[in-house]
Amino acid sequence: MQERSIAIDGPAGAGKSTLARALARELGYLYVDTGAIYRTVALRAREAGADPGDGAQVEPLLAGLDIRMDYGGDGVQHMYLSGRDVTGAIRENEISGMASKVAALPAVRAFLLEFQRKQARDHDVVMDGRDIGTVVLPQAGVKVFLTAAPEARARRRTLELQQRGQAADFDEILREIAARDEQDRNRPVAPLRQAEDAVLLDTTDLDLKGSLEALLTLVRGRLKL
Ligand code: C5P
Repeated sequence: MQERSIAIDGPAGAGKSTLARALARELGYLYVDTGAIYRTVALRAREAGADPGDGAQVEPLLAGLDIRMDYGGDGVQHMYLSGRDVTGAIRENEISGMASKVAALPAVRAFLLEFQRKQARDHDVVMDGRDIGTVVLPQAGVKVFLTAAPEARARRRTLELQQRGQAADFDEILREIAARDEQDRNRPVAPLRQAEDAVLLDTTDLDLKGSLEALLTLVRGRLKL
């Protein structure tokens, strides 16, 4: 039910996925990472040799798109593309920029809308993304807009990639994050923006524990848990 849902939006690297996952665990909710869905579409475009920013090349792929999501015993959201587990593959840094490009295509967003809403009908969810509070779950019981200074976000993203064993250069990541924010904020359909009824949480000066405490206090107050 949407009214029990928790929507967390914000720019790349603000800590959405880490915090949303921790929050979901704390409340016994299902965590839905919608960025992973756009990343899976981007992977499909790359594998088909399509330009991710070109609707004429990406749209024909949607009809035959076989995306599935499930939660293994580990509670981790696994993404499947045509039956193949692509959970790790979609985290490649190149896919981030491509995801932002396919996400700007109106046909892609329309195609994925129902897929995302169904999750909130079937479960109590903490859902994170860019347009969850504004478009996907406008009736969500709690909406949070999570942000942090670009340098703090780039630092976290660099660390995250390095911990996964991927090469990551801070300056390059900072540029990529700025480009992605710009693209996500300025697209005509479902741009990244704070919903009017969302609470702003800036995590620049908060560590994970502090951010989670702030988030939990907010959510418990709103949902009267
Ligand atoms: O959250 P993550 O960084 O994995 O998302 C990858 C890209 O997918 C974002 O930069 C954004 O362009 C797109 N996205 C979106 N709407 C969402 C979630 C992600 O447009 N709800």
